[in-house]
Amino acid sequence: MVKNIPLISQPFLTRSVKCYGGHVWANGSIEKGYVSVEDGIVTGTYTTPEVEPSLKGLVIPRPINAHVHSGDRGIKDMVRRHLKKGRSLNNIVAPPNGIKHRHLENTDDDQLILDMTIYIKEAFAAGCGGIVDFREGGIRGLRILKQAAGEIPIRAEALGRPAGLSYDPVELNAILDRCSGISVSALCDWEPSELEKVAKHVHGKKGRFALHASENIRENIDDILELGPDFLVHMVKGTDSDFQRLAQENVPVAVCPRANALFGLKAPMDKLVRNNVEFALGTDNAMSATPDIFSEMGYTLRHHSRHINPDRLWHGQQLVGKKIINGQQTLSGTTGERADFLVLSIPPERFHEALAGGDLAQRISLIMADGRPFSPEELIEQKVDRT
Ligand SMILES: [Zn+2]
Repeated sequence: MVKNIPLISQPFLTRSVKCYGGHVWANGSIEKGYVSVEDGIVTGTYTTPEVEPSLKGLVIPRPINAHVHSGDRGIKDMVRRHLKKGRSLNNIVAPPNGIKHRHLENTDDDQLILDMTIYIKEAFAAGCGGIVDFREGGIRGLRILKQAAGEIPIRAEALGRPAGLSYDPVELNAILDRCSGISVSALCDWEPSELEKVAKHVHGKKGRFALHASENIRENIDDILELGPDFLVHMVKGTDSDFQRLAQENVPVAVCPRANALFGLKAPMDKLVRNNVEFALGTDNAMSATPDIFSEMGYTLRHHSRHINPDRLWHGQQLVGKKIINGQQTLSGTTGERADFLVLSIPPERFHEALAGGDLAQRISLIMADGRPFSPEELIEQKVDRT
């Protein structure tokens, strides 16, 4: 929490100390405060600025985008044309023959890297501190993501996916050597016994395991929970009893309301809230939505206002987003860590209203990432698309 400035620190101040804020969002509330940063490290948050603030505004943590597929940005227009012709979700995204998977297989590495780099820069410019990518394409898919993310100061967390739909321990080991876990399309796409072997193998290697669930059709929740998932994605067709099971087992859900809507589906915000299931928002396929998580929050608040309010949504996005990206659920202070936050040009009392507006990315004055400051002007110089 915000502390009074310790007088003892004054004589030791060096010119490298910079401070930001006026107000700070921390652990669930907005308070008056200034974050001090020295050599890229947060040295404390104080009610009185240690030095003349470099920038005034509302300081908030960079949010996590809890679910993306970064590889299919190149077919955004094509997919919209297919949807207009009435093609189904399965026809577009289901492995192995959906349009998306044929695109990923038939497009050369350089083009995919270019598409993904643009997408990751869009996420960064929209204020995201991390993305959780259900990375298709086996080892090749992971290599491409790593090259695309390059030096962009965002945590691009990949959960790799076997290239086929059968258990291959050699391939799994090779994928797990390169990322923190495995994600698969859905139980219904697999021979159940094969997927059970995959899940068992991943857990044996202390990897993380996640999958889409009940997106287009309801799947048996107990069969899914048998796989020991760290989190699920979608649960559009889940029933209250399914969500009660998720709450009992403490399994969070990444939900993607804009992507669901594009395919004529409605995100289960009512059942998530009613049954106290942890959730965080994601933006899903690059072909279906921008990675701007503020835009996703705005859409969610406008279309599900009966079930969720801005305060709960933002706090959950922080708490559960962190759990989904790194398996931990902490909102500890950042003192001693590399500076990682946004400075917004917005009065603190308008934060919730602005969240519902969905355009907070346009109010970012500064992105502090990996201890370094980036201004919107620099982002424009990098030719980042902020739309
Ligand atoms: Zn997905």
